[in-house]
Amino acid sequence: MVWAFEVKDLSFQYKDGTKALDRLTLNIERGSRVALLGPNGSGKTTLLLHFNAIHPVQQGTLKVLGEVVTAKNEKWVRDQVGLVFQDPDDQLFSSSVWEDVAFGPVNQGLQGETLKERVREALRFVNMEAYAAKVPYHLSYGQKKRVAIAGVIAMNPEMIVLDEPLAFLDPAGKRELFSLLDRLKREGKTIVMATHDVDMAVQWADKVLVMKDGRLVAEGSPRLLTDREIVESAHLEFPTVSRIFLHFPSLCGETVPATVQEAVAMI
Ligand code: ADP
Repeated sequence: MVWAFEVKDLSFQYKDGTKALDRLTLNIERGSRVALLGPNGSGKTTLLLHFNAIHPVQQGTLKVLGEVVTAKNEKWVRDQVGLVFQDPDDQLFSSSVWEDVAFGPVNQGLQGETLKERVREALRFVNMEAYAAKVPYHLSYGQKKRVAIAGVIAMNPEMIVLDEPLAFLDPAGKRELFSLLDRLKREGKTIVMATHDVDMAVQWADKVLVMKDGRLVAEGSPRLLTDREIVESAHLEFPTVSRIFLHFPSLCGETVPATVQEAVAMI
């Protein structure tokens, strides 16, 4: 079986000596939706930056679609894996939305009508066509996020990795993002998202990975976010619905609901 990402004994130390990944081992299935959770500083961003070949592999191995990632195939890795940074201002630097979205495909060698169609399609996908000529700097935070996502989609990667995409989005922005991610899932993309939002993780993910101190401490179905031992040891919080039901054990017995749908089915 070819995994989207195969991480084995991956360790990484920043220049100042901070150890961010510590013999981390995990696999991510192709076509899955994975939520990566863990307290601040647990190594989530560092791992995502490896997925996009921004950080070099220092120790251990990382395979993308079965290929070992090395300094020699970074460009190929970036064609397979699109990374949406936590802060869209780190990603948008051109003088127009159009140019920003075109940046990746131009680097891939696209030009002429093919390039135009690719950019147009990506902007349509995130519903930002009308903003093509605008200066990214002047857009709202949610609009910037959508442009950053369009820039990644325009490269047509098989895997899309997002670093805390929900942070600072208003409820409408979150809904838009989910509808976008649903459409990407239907296209068969593998989506990995680092997040602190456990409610989102239980609703959205096929699988959750929990990191702490640069290591994987739990993995499995999103239901593991109702497990007190895991939640407490990884400094997470329970999903909102679970929190309510934990106060009323007689309502749910052993099986604590994680989502509104589960709770409704139970009572
Ligand atoms: P998370 O995304 O889970 O918050 P990070 O991957 O950002 O975790 O950080 C993991 C560890 O690496 C933390 O201790 C953090 O302080 C440290 N770290 C992150 N970026 C740098 C950097 N550029 N230089 C030095 N240390 C860093």
